[in-house]
Amino acid sequence: MKIIFLGIGEAFDENIPNNSHLIITEKTKLLLDCGMTAAPQVWKFNPAPSFLDAVYISHWHADHYFGLPGLLLRMWEGGKAGRTRPLTIISREGFKEQFKKLMQLAYAGFQEKFKYEIKIIEVKEGEELEFQDLKLSFQKTVHSGENLAIKITDGKKTITYNGDGSPISGTDFYKNLDLLILETYLYDKEIIGHSSVVSAIKFAENNNVKCLALTHMNRDFRKNELPKIRDKIKGGKVKIIIPEPMDEYNI
Ligand SMILES: [Zn+2]
Ligand SMILES: [Zn+2]
Repeated sequence: MKIIFLGIGEAFDENIPNNSHLIITEKTKLLLDCGMTAAPQVWKFNPAPSFLDAVYISHWHADHYFGLPGLLLRMWEGGKAGRTRPLTIISREGFKEQFKKLMQLAYAGFQEKFKYEIKIIEVKEGEELEFQDLKLSFQKTVHSGENLAIKITDGKKTITYNGDGSPISGTDFYKNLDLLILETYLYDKEIIGHSSVVSAIKFAENNNVKCLALTHMNRDFRKNELPKIRDKIKGGKVKIIIPEPMDEYNI
């Protein structure tokens, strides 16, 4: 499995695109979240209209899904070279209605012109979904909007992307992961609805995670504080990475 950290920024970072990642397996290209500054990262990586198989939206905050209308319109607007094969979008219950509103506000009347079908799958906490060569499952986090973390396995390796919010401990959901992509905000100051770097590392250690990727850091912290303390951020058994946009990681 290959992961491309397309964007690793918080909501309002002027330098770093919103938290958004690409999972590539033998049979599937799955985009995780598509915030308002994330869609151009997909185009930079691969501009082909038919490149993606599916998009997962963890929650309905603009920095996680307002890039969708542009992403979808660009798949269509290539004329004869535009997309014809279906695209799946996965998100929590109610997304069909939310998606309609989003498209209506962004580009009213355009979806009817698309030459490809958009299949929306609504999922719930605790549910398991098979998609091509992947098994997906979902668990809530503690965040200001209802957010579902997604666990992805291809039968060989397993990764979890938590979207936004602190993960809930005491279940097997995060146990023994090959990679955990976790949203953090500040170094050790805890803010409700977010993890800190320190609490994220502790959480990964407690769950026997092999590699922890820290993302979604506060823009000022990342710019001013992180360079000074980067070397200090280490896990015991857990490998810690702080990716840059477009970094690739193989598991
Ligand atoms: Zn966010
Ligand atoms: Zn959020």
